[in-house]
Amino acid sequence: MHSEAIDSASAGRAADKLHRYRETADLFEDRGLYPEYHRLDSAGTQPTCQIGGRELVTLCSNNYLGLAHHPRVLDAARSTLEVHGTGPGGSRCLCGNVDVLEDLDRAVADFMGTEDAITFPTGYMANLSAFRALTDPFLGTVHPYAQGTGTVLCDEGNHATVFDGVQLSSARRVLFQHNDLEDLERRLSWADRKGPRVVVVEGTYSLEGEVAPLPEIVEICDRHGAILYIDDAHGLGVLGAHGGGALQHFGLEGRADLVMGSFDKALGGTGGFLAGRRDLIRYLRIAARAYMFSSAVPAAMAAAMISALEVTRGGELLRRRLRRNYEILRTGLESLGFRVLGDGTVPVAPALLGDENLAVHFQKRLFQQGVFAPAFRWPAVPKGMARIRVTPMATHSEEHLRRALDAFAVVGRELRLVA
Ligand code: PMP
Repeated sequence: MHSEAIDSASAGRAADKLHRYRETADLFEDRGLYPEYHRLDSAGTQPTCQIGGRELVTLCSNNYLGLAHHPRVLDAARSTLEVHGTGPGGSRCLCGNVDVLEDLDRAVADFMGTEDAITFPTGYMANLSAFRALTDPFLGTVHPYAQGTGTVLCDEGNHATVFDGVQLSSARRVLFQHNDLEDLERRLSWADRKGPRVVVVEGTYSLEGEVAPLPEIVEICDRHGAILYIDDAHGLGVLGAHGGGALQHFGLEGRADLVMGSFDKALGGTGGFLAGRRDLIRYLRIAARAYMFSSAVPAAMAAAMISALEVTRGGELLRRRLRRNYEILRTGLESLGFRVLGDGTVPVAPALLGDENLAVHFQKRLFQQGVFAPAFRWPAVPKGMARIRVTPMATHSEEHLRRALDAFAVVGRELRLVA
């Protein structure tokens, strides 16, 4: 056969083999649900960004304290980059365990008030590794640690990365209603006691703008002998007198068995960690698969994050600015007539719109009006509960926020959502 004919026959077979993926992508596009991946011509972590030759107010960055460009953080990254280069060259059990990474583990533990901590290239990898490790000691192969005896009790509002991590374990996944303590207690008392029982919640639910009822959850876990795992990606740096997160906010530091945190939100970098008791972390250094089988956090990032933790600890002024900006946005949106979720504890303002298509249209018009704040919709939030999560940063000026509120007013009136 002529080589062109072979090419077109094999291209046809390949296309056919892949048809379901094309159809799914088409379906999302046809329904207007395919996310818009805007190409930014500037950083996305500053109060404003450049897209398509226009300047927009950025209201969707998790760089809450503005540390992504903090001079001390940048200096630390630059000087370490010169020494260590761009990548780690291997996992921590090969050549990746450079001094600065051990220093980062120590800095995280000190910051969180725990005995030890283990760090990962992303927060996702921390969540992916944790539940299999917690519920399958010895990978379930050594007596008496049989596989499948563990239970993970999971708040239904947990982040997608928690659900993915639980799915990688042999544990039974039991969902309880979001923040419903009675439901948690009931399901915990039904759970099989042969294996580990792990309760997993977020400390700070950014899409709801609320903090979890941790005093009660800590007490319930203590009473039932359950392991408490808190994903506090969004509380870290933002809540608590020294930015220690949701546990510090309640005066409960050290009362969870493991706290998961992400470096890519208030700390302005990338990476994640698990912080807890020395023996548990010692065990995770052999059982957390993303730690064993993936490359380490790059040294320049580790140095930047050590510095970011120091700035965060003394960052009262930044936290005050963040809160002031949040108050301006929240009261501004509410006085326009928008429904803003949350009890005011967490400085994130999710404006509820409801219908998915409406939210997508709203975000497009907002974009045209000079505000970059994409909509969150199913499956990130329940169907019919689409919202624009408005995230202020400490670095926004009042003028940026007024511009943003004016845009919300224009679009809200145009779509007859507010008077
Ligand atoms: N947990 C929560 C609650 C998150 O919001 C995120 C990130 N969106 C993660 C975990 C994952 O963290 P990372 O971005 O560091 O992978």
